[in-house]
Amino acid sequence: MRAANRLSAVSLSPILAMGALAAARARTGRPVIVLAAGEPDFETPAHVIDAATRAMHAGQTKYTALEGTIELRDAIREKFRRENSLEFAREEIICGAGAKQILFNAFLATLDPGDEVILAAPYWTSYSDIVALCGGRPVSIPCNEDKGFKLTAEDLDRAISERTRWLLINSPSNPSGAAYESRELLQLTSVLERHPHVALMSDDIYEHLLYDGRIFVTPLQIAPNLRSRTLIVNGLSKAYAMTGWRIGYGAGPKAMITAMAVVQSQSTSCPSSISQAAAIGALLGSQATIGARREKFQLRRDSVVDALNRVPGLRCRRPEGAFYAYVYCGDLIGRRTTDGITLESDFDVCRSLLDSADVAVVPGSAFGLSPYFRVSYATSEDVLREALDRISEFCRRLQ
Ligand code: PLP
Repeated sequence: MRAANRLSAVSLSPILAMGALAAARARTGRPVIVLAAGEPDFETPAHVIDAATRAMHAGQTKYTALEGTIELRDAIREKFRRENSLEFAREEIICGAGAKQILFNAFLATLDPGDEVILAAPYWTSYSDIVALCGGRPVSIPCNEDKGFKLTAEDLDRAISERTRWLLINSPSNPSGAAYESRELLQLTSVLERHPHVALMSDDIYEHLLYDGRIFVTPLQIAPNLRSRTLIVNGLSKAYAMTGWRIGYGAGPKAMITAMAVVQSQSTSCPSSISQAAAIGALLGSQATIGARREKFQLRRDSVVDALNRVPGLRCRRPEGAFYAYVYCGDLIGRRTTDGITLESDFDVCRSLLDSADVAVVPGSAFGLSPYFRVSYATSEDVLREALDRISEFCRRLQ
């Protein structure tokens, strides 16, 4: 089979690739610990599963409206009212099979060949690949650790060209956990006000995983005048531990949502009817698990970051949110493992960590900013402790 040319611009997600390498190693009997996955280790709340079961028995097993059922779109409108003080009409909401499908819908619906999308590196690895698959050009702006891994207004202004269609903001961020403060969002949105041809996409999927009492703000709350060109992307995967249910949603101007619906009508038609019922249960039911899990994640963040900073050769900024730590490993480059391998990149560090210490993490090269690796702490405290002991031992034995 000959693959289409458009595939040459994309690769298998390095996160999935690392997962596959780890799985292959585990199959040989090695006690591999995988800190590569971007999904909570918690269960989907019981009342959400009950909502899905009830829906199945009530015969909700058919195609639904392609943008999602009226009930789900209304539940999402209620969520925006309750949590973000934003009002959306039903026609301004679309549901898809995960936030990932919403991103696909949006980029396929809006990008012409060569159109540019500005990404703040480190960024979620799928952004650049999805943009490329849709014919666009990802424009990666390095956002260094001394800037908190955040895009500045000056860098944004400099990056905007005539071909720029979107700025994509993801706060709190995968992979760095960095979150923008209102003041910083205001600076960015002020730049966009001077460039009316640039739309704003805000991926809010980690909105509920923000620590130390920080309050989440989505850019549209700060800059309501950007409403006609802002798309909010969100989903149930992270906040409600519902990665396998595949429900995400977008909220934006009617014309944009209608264009996205056209795309979706020729791909999945609609998200799973049963998952939609579960999502209504999640959005309108008890929200108690969100706060309880956030507290657990914050404790894990602290123990993971403290432990990483005690490892010679590693450095880790304390992230404001999400469930990832982005670890600087530049001081390991040039060192040699006990197997005689010289580490020349963050990919080498991750490969050797897997081969010698049975710990899988994802290289920073996957996220557009090296030399780093990403640790996901969405796993139990015991497993994290063991993994960090192994990472520490690996680093101590480097020559
Ligand atoms: N956006 C970000 C930043 C993510 O990290 C992920 C998943 O890892 C997604 C979107 C996609 O989530 P889903 O498609 O499960 O809703």
